[in-house]
Amino acid sequence: MDFLDFHHHQRNKNGIYSLNLTDEIPAGKFSAGLHPKDITDNWQTDLESIKKISLSENCLAIGECGLDGLIDIDEKLQNEIFQAHINWAEEIKKPIIIHCVRRFSQILHYKTAKVPLVIHGFNKKENIAQELLDAGFYLSFGKAALDHLPLQNTIKNIPIRSFFLETDDSDFEISELYEKVAEIRSISLENLKDQMWENLDNIVRHG
Ligand SMILES: [Zn+2]
Repeated sequence: MDFLDFHHHQRNKNGIYSLNLTDEIPAGKFSAGLHPKDITDNWQTDLESIKKISLSENCLAIGECGLDGLIDIDEKLQNEIFQAHINWAEEIKKPIIIHCVRRFSQILHYKTAKVPLVIHGFNKKENIAQELLDAGFYLSFGKAALDHLPLQNTIKNIPIRSFFLETDDSDFEISELYEKVAEIRSISLENLKDQMWENLDNIVRHG
């Protein structure tokens, strides 16, 4: 079985491709959303095309979308657009892949969403991870987990059904991350692979 790369930006790779809005609909699995950094005055038009695209069966999730405290886009607007993504995801019953930078306390307010919420690229402290997991969020780990010891400790301690693995826009092989996490969790690579697909199945089915 293939490695599930939960979130990435390369069209030719397996896993869930985060669609570039100017792209054609890909043949494989993808997600569609408006990254906060891509918000412009045209966001409503962009959201309309995301809505259309996301009806495709290969679109497994809405996103990445979310909140970013480091960019120069009005926070109220970011929240409004994130909420609009959630409303749509609830309507079509698909999970959401969240981009969150320095806005974890605000993100927690969205825990009441009726679809699974996955924070991608998670690399913060264990207490933040715990707070998010307690609120029902899922986490997805990327390159930082290869060598960041506190993060590896988090990965060791959280429920195996609560997370995913991804390359995002980093240049490394997803197999490296699976090997690392299998070692951290003391399970076989095959079991870990199966588990990640099962986790995907869980959030897609319960979207
Ligand atoms: Zn990304």
